[in-house]
Amino acid sequence: MKTSLLTPDKDPMGAAIADYYKNNRASKLRVFSSQFDEDEIPVPQLFRTFEEMPSLEQTALNLAQGRILDCGAGSGCHALALQQMGKDVQAIDISPLSVEVMQQRGVKHAYCVNLFDENYLQKFDTILMLMNGSGIIGKLENMRDFFTKMKQLLNPGGSIYMDSSDLRYLFEDEDGSFLMDLAGDYYGEIDYRMQYKQVKGEPFDWLYVDFQTLAYYASENGFNARLVQEGEHYDYLACLRIK
Ligand code: SAH
Repeated sequence: MKTSLLTPDKDPMGAAIADYYKNNRASKLRVFSSQFDEDEIPVPQLFRTFEEMPSLEQTALNLAQGRILDCGAGSGCHALALQQMGKDVQAIDISPLSVEVMQQRGVKHAYCVNLFDENYLQKFDTILMLMNGSGIIGKLENMRDFFTKMKQLLNPGGSIYMDSSDLRYLFEDEDGSFLMDLAGDYYGEIDYRMQYKQVKGEPFDWLYVDFQTLAYYASENGFNARLVQEGEHYDYLACLRIK
């Protein structure tokens, strides 16, 4: 697992978040992948309020309790909503630019930390991984390391709430047959690279995982997976707990 932090010269999303926070407008946050055409992340969406959030995310925030970790917190939208609900939340991100914005926006406990840093050892009752939060796992081969880390961070009885999408719709033909190569890599393993203005990020792996596959790896690693809610387009919210 990568355990490093980003530097501002290679952090396009952080640059976009900082720009939008300062100027209330932003340029295109461009997303490239060897598997897709160029795409873009609407920067204002990273600043969504509770009311603007998809229902899956609202559910996760409502269910979050005790000491909460918002993992890969970005601009801090979920952390701020949780604080407004009177909940106790810590937000972490590998982007120093984003963490600075979180602190300026009033996130009380925002730290620049990589989830997989072996020195990051605290205890939480709820861990949130939202906005295709499974992405931080990177690849299926990292599932074991991920669940090992989760065991270290969770209090007894604690829960992880994670959302993801099943990318199967990208490979499904109109008649329902699959166009993917079953001998190849898992279809949810995506490589991305982002760019904001002149700031280019390094390529990174991002994992989209269907619920069945997540449940399988969870079980293999001592966790139960429960499907909490399904979204409108192959997306879902899962709850993971130690068996
Ligand atoms: N949760 C936010 C941001 C999602 S983008 C939202 O819903 O708006 C994913 C975020 O995860 C980015 O800010 C990225 O910097 C952060 N991230 C990626 N890998 C990480 C890791 N290993 N540890 C902590 N944060 C990570």
